[in-house]
Amino acid sequence: MSAPQRPHDAQRARDRELAGAGIHRLAIPTPFPVGRVNLYLIRDRPITLVDCGPASAKALDALECALAGHSLAIEQIELLLITLQHADHVGLAGLIARRSGAQVAAIAPLAPYLEGFREQARADQAFAEEMMTLHGVPREIVLAGRAGSASLRAWSDPVTVTRPLAEGERIELAERRLRVMLRPGHSPSDTIFLDEERQIAFGGDHLLAEISSNPTLSRPLGAPAQGPHARERSLPAYLRSLAATRSLPARMILPGHGEPITEHEELIESRLRLHERRARKILSLLGAEETTAHELARRMWKELAITQTYLTLSELIGHLDLLEESGQVAAVERAGVIRYRSASISER
Ligand SMILES: [Zn+2]
Repeated sequence: MSAPQRPHDAQRARDRELAGAGIHRLAIPTPFPVGRVNLYLIRDRPITLVDCGPASAKALDALECALAGHSLAIEQIELLLITLQHADHVGLAGLIARRSGAQVAAIAPLAPYLEGFREQARADQAFAEEMMTLHGVPREIVLAGRAGSASLRAWSDPVTVTRPLAEGERIELAERRLRVMLRPGHSPSDTIFLDEERQIAFGGDHLLAEISSNPTLSRPLGAPAQGPHARERSLPAYLRSLAATRSLPARMILPGHGEPITEHEELIESRLRLHERRARKILSLLGAEETTAHELARRMWKELAITQTYLTLSELIGHLDLLEESGQVAAVERAGVIRYRSASISER
């Protein structure tokens, strides 16, 4: 009779274990399709918050309520740790830092990005539009996305990084040490913080239990605007990061969205299999004729390639990067548009 209770019990046991380690999950609402974002309060010296939520009144209210539940106020936060550059994770950082005087810690190459957030987000948008045009997205679809991305910029404020972090560095708190580990792919700045002693990692969006992290096409951090040809190869980078995390000595990874991950090796294996299946499908969709990445995305995901243009394009180009690296696909650019063809078909 007790079997149906198990998942709940397991979750409660995990929460108890985390609370014992001074870690509390605060799930804050966001205006984005992903739903709530997980912030983690670490009751230690300094009092630490991992990620911040978007810059919205609703998120701020929820954060203040959640902190009050632990008899804390924003003014008492002493250290902010940032796991990535997206608005649902950094939006409120500026406000929290102003009100509390908290140190803001993020990987060093992310500092100029967070300090100039609005200009950087505008440059991201210009980059995304150039990228879509280069890969065959029709002009009207490119322009249709503009209003949405302008409103996206409103969910974050600039913030000064007072504690730039380096890969491998350890952040010392009174009762734990957190090791800084870079895991780029979903974004160029994905960072996880590992408590080696407790084997608990704060994972941001690097690995999520319920959804696979999208390898978003991004500008390299710290680079001046160079157009769509200077981009990160996000999916190859992401797969390298996943491979590194597979052997992470962690019993629990606390993600930016959804439930804690306890079997990360299995989850990573299933993500790798998903990407392999997708690569085979994409290769099978490539015929003798040259095709743009957007056209392939439409064959692959139909309407979703229109409503989620950049997301599907990022995923598709990620796979084309891999197939190109392994010599199965060739790319040609003509008149400002890149087209792909199967390398084996072209040889006949
Ligand atoms: Zn997120």
